Parts: sequence; C-alpha cells; structure tokens
Amino acid sequence: MTAPAARPCDICRIQDRSGPEFGTRFEAMECWRDETWVVRHHLAPAPLVGWTFLGTVRHVQGAADLNDREAAELGPMLRRVSRAVRTLTGCDRVYAIAFGQGAPHLHVHLIPRFDSEPGTAAWSVADWYRAVERGEQPPADPAAVADFVERMRKLGSG
Ligand SMILES: [Zn+2]
Repeated sequence: MTAPAARPCDICRIQDRSGPEFGTRFEAMECWRDETWVVRHHLAPAPLVGWTFLGTVRHVQGAADLNDREAAELGPMLRRVSRAVRTLTGCDRVYAIAFGQGAPHLHVHLIPRFDSEPGTAAWSVADWYRAVERGEQPPADPAAVADFVERMRKLGSG
C-alpha cells in the first residue's frame, strides 16, 4: 500500500515535465528511463562528474513503499547503474545513498568515489556536496558532465 502524494513533488514534476521551471536543464541531465526507473545526472552545479540518481517513475517516498515489481528490480537496477558509473568514470567504487528528504520521492544517489580524492571519502562527501552548493568548492566541469550523460545514454539504450 502506498500513501498518495500530498502535492506534486519536485521529482514528479521533473519527470512529468509538467512545470515550466522543469524544462531543458533537467532533460539535459536525463540519461534514460523505462516504465519503472529514471536515471539522471545531478544538475549543475554538480558535485562530481558521474553523480547520478536512480529514481522510481512512480511517486514513492522510499524503499518501504515500493511495490513488488519495483522491489524486485531495485537490486538489478542498482547493479546496472552503479556498474555504468564505474565504467564511465573509472572510479574505485560507487556509493549509494537515499534520503528522500529534499524531495520525498525515492532517488538513490550513486556517487563515484576515487581513492585518490580523500575529500570525498565516506561522510566527507556530504561536506564536499555542501561546499559545492555554497560555491566554496568548484563544481564538476559542465562539459565533462554532458559527455558523461551522452555516454550513459548510449549504455542505457544498449
Ligand atoms: Zn514524486
């Protein structure tokens, strides 16, 4: 059983493309989608190249509210997208974090982690994220992000 959304959430509006503010800058970051899942890169300013979201198409707050199909597909999808992030960035590992707080709609942050960058180790990645958000840390190069999205789209369609 799933609780209905009290109001359209930002992620639903992005995915439905139902608001003028959710236009091309979001579409430019969408890598691919199927009936159940959407894969999207973090918007600019992106904390890291390859900072990717795996989200449900349907509005669900978190894993507790997944239907049977979504629950069965989550593991394989996490593996598929995490492997793609690792392949495309060459990172050492891929972190998976889901809060569902900024927008109450399941979206797992899949974060490329490089051992050579200690500033992104474990919870330090949250400090990194906030530093980019505040403009204290340079964001990922938009051209490199666009290239990642292009390559992710090719992987997703294959
Ligand atoms: Zn939603």
